[in-house]
Amino acid sequence: MENNKSFDYDLRIGIFGAGGVGKSSITIKFTHNMFIEEYDPNVEDEYTKEIELNDKKILLKVLDTTYPQEIYDPFPRWVEYSQVFVLIYSIIDKYSFDEILNYHNYSIKKIRKDYPKILIGNKSDLTMKREISIKQGKELARNLNCKYIETSAKTGENINQLFYESSLLAFEELKNKEN
Ligand code: GDP
Ligand code: MG
Repeated sequence: MENNKSFDYDLRIGIFGAGGVGKSSITIKFTHNMFIEEYDPNVEDEYTKEIELNDKKILLKVLDTTYPQEIYDPFPRWVEYSQVFVLIYSIIDKYSFDEILNYHNYSIKKIRKDYPKILIGNKSDLTMKREISIKQGKELARNLNCKYIETSAKTGENINQLFYESSLLAFEELKNKEN
């Protein structure tokens, strides 16, 4: 039988952050409910999942990007693509935390002055190895003027929350553009 499924809206979310922070793991945990120990770091791919939001049928598209090839590209296609930017660092990797501001200042903001985003501290299950405190995460989110969530792709903690909040932002962005 033919699949006549239709959606009220398509929403597009871009996943960004330094290598190894868990971009692919988070994406796949959400779209396929799987945790993979090793995922090819060089694959950029788009994943989809059907969700409901405000009683609407939504096709959520998630772009899992690679790093660092694209960060200093003057016309990165993912900046055009994304209605919302999920900026991810790993709580056990200070370098990845510092990279968030580089993304913001030297890449995304150059093309889009103001853009919807959410800050994610991933690998919250690895508390013993933590290098970035919750307070530091919250502070950075305040500077970026966005929400902050800690997640674990391994345990699944707050993964649905991440995509729910991001979808709401993407939906708002879509509505703003319509008006
Ligand atoms: P990416 O380069 O940002 O796409 O990172 P990956 O998704 O490939 O993850 C890099 C490594 O971190 C892999 O070995 C993952 O299994 C691991 N990883 C990702 N997220 C988590 C997490 O929340 N907790 C733990 N313990 N490991 C994670
Ligand atoms: Mg990856």
